[in-house]
Amino acid sequence: MTDRKDELAANLARVEERIAAACAAAGRGRDEVTLIVVTKTYPASDVRILSELGVRHVAENRDQDAAPKAAECSDLPLTWHFVGQLQTNKVRSVVGYADLVHSVDRSRLVTTLSKEAVRAGREIGCLLQVALDAGVGGRGERGGVAPDGIEELAGLVAGAPGLRLAGLMTVAPLTGEYAGREQAAFERLMDLSTDLRRTHPTANMVSAGMSADLEQAVAAGATHVRVGSAVLGVRPGLG
Ligand SMILES: *Cc1c(COP(=O)(O)O)cnc(C)c1O
Repeated sequence: MTDRKDELAANLARVEERIAAACAAAGRGRDEVTLIVVTKTYPASDVRILSELGVRHVAENRDQDAAPKAAECSDLPLTWHFVGQLQTNKVRSVVGYADLVHSVDRSRLVTTLSKEAVRAGREIGCLLQVALDAGVGGRGERGGVAPDGIEELAGLVAGAPGLRLAGLMTVAPLTGEYAGREQAAFERLMDLSTDLRRTHPTANMVSAGMSADLEQAVAAGATHVRVGSAVLGVRPGLG
């Protein structure tokens, strides 16, 4: 194996151990949690290695980087997740490679995603990004719909051609009542997911937890964790 492949294999093994231990501690089956590796800022060659190592889910947060990477990796058996704030002028491109978008947070984005999904003849899984630091009717600093806006937005997605309502996503807030209380934040997301599934029973994905807080997310009931730096290394600069 190359040095990079050795390194990624070792990192993946460590993350896998953490997920398995968190599942065991929570009395959950390991198969209840899916690892999504966030490959943002890292090259297509790393995505290829990850695929060889058995990774099946990857995520990106900027279309400019993701589009060429996904094109280079189109021969690989990967599911692509888009997890970044999404501008409507990038939707056509994102719909070309993303199977799921975790950052759906406003009606205009739903309209545009639907139009482009239909145009491309694709079905896009949509997770509503929930901002646990947003005030009533507001939006989060890093995107996301406030909890009181979930029901209306979910109805829009569920009724939109080309889209499938898949579940909820959050990022642990840095401000507000949940700052520094990751597990409480993820438990709140689980409660919101329970509410959502009363009207949309198949919207059962709960995307929460990153490198630093995946244990808290698994403990709270997350079905998908999004792990970047613990697998690929610490990203230089922003990202
Ligand atoms: C970058 C990113 C992650 C992964 O973060 P790490 O701390 O590197 O694990 C997860 N979710 C989103 C939305 C991200 O932008």
